[in-house]
Amino acid sequence: MKADKRIEKEINAISATLPQGVTLIAVSKYHPAEAVMEAYEAGQRDFGESKAQDLVKKHELLPKDINWHFIGHLQSNKIKYIAPFIHLIHSIDSYKLLQEVEKHAAKCGRVINCLLQIHIAEEESKFGFTTEELRSMLKEGEWQSLQHVKIRGVMCMASNTDDEEQIDKEFATVESLFKEIKEKHFSNDKDFDIISAGMSDDYPIAIKHGSTHVRVGSRIFNN
Ligand SMILES: *Cc1c(COP(=O)(O)O)cnc(C)c1O
Repeated sequence: MKADKRIEKEINAISATLPQGVTLIAVSKYHPAEAVMEAYEAGQRDFGESKAQDLVKKHELLPKDINWHFIGHLQSNKIKYIAPFIHLIHSIDSYKLLQEVEKHAAKCGRVINCLLQIHIAEEESKFGFTTEELRSMLKEGEWQSLQHVKIRGVMCMASNTDDEEQIDKEFATVESLFKEIKEKHFSNDKDFDIISAGMSDDYPIAIKHGSTHVRVGSRIFNN
């Protein structure tokens, strides 16, 4: 453990500001297993990675009671590596991908928790369903036959901007979309209960709009 305990201090400082029921996911992408271990020793158990290979390596090296979250763009050919142990996939961005996860989850005899990623930011480069794609996919209804994936909620990334009003507007849109979907398609499902929103620079705004899972990387792991 590093003498200055900087990671531990940062985790404690952030945790102290989170309302009850909000989960802190420490995003450890690009950081070595030793950094994850330092956070683990501070009591952190939920970690996020955006590359399947890195996730698998860290899963092998690190304690088995860690909840691993996949937060990056997921390629179909990588699902098999993470399917045996992944805790939550945040980045389902097409129905086809959901079907692929279903296949691999079935092979492992698991039900995998998934979030539907919503494309809300202005950047073209970001992934996810548009609002209309999401509505029509859910209305289509085929997803209801999938036995090995469990849709737990939605995930989003706000625009990369200093304009807090813009960010606020985007998180508000996601919150109302979550409520709309819940009412229309998951009204009897108490497990449709996750909004994954907010990163190092914008998580307090996301919490204002109902985020239940914040994904914080650089504030914890960078100097
Ligand atoms: C990297 C990443 C984060 C963490 O971002 P920070 O700004 O470092 O906190 C959160 N979510 C996703 C999807 C990411 O790729």
